[in-house]
Amino acid sequence: MKRKIFLICIIIAFAATLSAALSACDLFGNKGCGSSHEFGEVIEIKASTCTEEGEGKKVCSVCGYEKRGFVLPKKQHTFGEAEIEEEATCVKKGKESKTCSVCGVKEERVIPQKSHELGGWEIKVEPTCTDNGERVKKCKFCDYEEREKLGTISHDYKETERKEATCEEPGYVKRVCSVCGKTQTEITERLYHSFPEGTEIKYDYRDNSDENYCYYAYRECARCHKDVFYKTQSHSMKKDAEFFVEATCSSTGVDAKKCLYCNRRTTETIPVVPYNHKRGAAVYGERNAENCTVQATVSCTLCGEEIDSWYEPRHDYDAETFVCTREGCGNVKEMPSSYFTYSSTYLGGWAIKGINDKKQPT
Ligand SMILES: [Zn+2]
Ligand SMILES: [Zn+2]
Ligand SMILES: [Zn+2]
Ligand SMILES: [Zn+2]
Ligand SMILES: [Zn+2]
Ligand SMILES: [Zn+2]
Ligand SMILES: [Zn+2]
Ligand SMILES: [Zn+2]
Repeated sequence: MKRKIFLICIIIAFAATLSAALSACDLFGNKGCGSSHEFGEVIEIKASTCTEEGEGKKVCSVCGYEKRGFVLPKKQHTFGEAEIEEEATCVKKGKESKTCSVCGVKEERVIPQKSHELGGWEIKVEPTCTDNGERVKKCKFCDYEEREKLGTISHDYKETERKEATCEEPGYVKRVCSVCGKTQTEITERLYHSFPEGTEIKYDYRDNSDENYCYYAYRECARCHKDVFYKTQSHSMKKDAEFFVEATCSSTGVDAKKCLYCNRRTTETIPVVPYNHKRGAAVYGERNAENCTVQATVSCTLCGEEIDSWYEPRHDYDAETFVCTREGCGNVKEMPSSYFTYSSTYLGGWAIKGINDKKQPT
């Protein structure tokens, strides 16, 4: 309790002293600024450097009172050009530093790691016609590299054998790779015979040597000059009148044929035709006075067989009346109408009326 009272006493004593001092300023200040001096800019007393703070004061423009204890901040270091201490590479960071020319203090900075710096492509393995190759790009600064496959190159074929295609056979070209020995055969299609327009057709007529064909026709190929089969033509057999013999009742015939286009001739026997008789001349018998007829018969001139028979009238016509004179016959001879003098009773065809007229004249 006593201690607390003592502390309060000290505070009171200090306040009294401060109050006295302020009263003194009032009392002894030239113009009597009191507590409100008119201060201007801080005036440097001790210059600051990059390592130490400086000191400044302010002076009242009214009463000239000086107030000290102003701190002037440190100056910036004066760094020169950065100096590289360790170069950055593609595998590690670098380091650079700046030194203050005044105090010698050093400031360091890290230089970031660089990317790889690749050179141009270098062939590491040459590709061949059988194996792939490889090429590489290397970093100039480290062991880093990029690889790339190179595809095989084409074979170096050299022609070793050649056969040209003909009209009938295909041709070929054989080649061998000079590097790996691989062979290659290229087939060239066979050509076909060539028959330009107007190519002559050659006919080989077979006549009697070929029972089916009249001729075999060929054309000569303009390329290979071979006669190439073109076409055939069947015979066209027709009756050969010169040698044809008809078969009869008593003899065989000859069926002779001749090709319309070539000289082929064929003959075949035609068997006997029993009813193919050869008619002879009619033979007449005696007149039968009872019915005014005669019998006519015809026989085959080859075999003698009687092959026809008929009766023919044989009237005795009166020269004037044209009526058969045989008793009981009365047949009138048929005469053309022009023979008679026409009358109004003409009946057409045969002039019966005219005949009656002659029989019974008026
Ligand atoms: Zn003042
Ligand atoms: Zn410095
Ligand atoms: Zn690198
Ligand atoms: Zn090859
Ligand atoms: Zn040909
Ligand atoms: Zn023929
Ligand atoms: Zn006969
Ligand atoms: Zn008669």
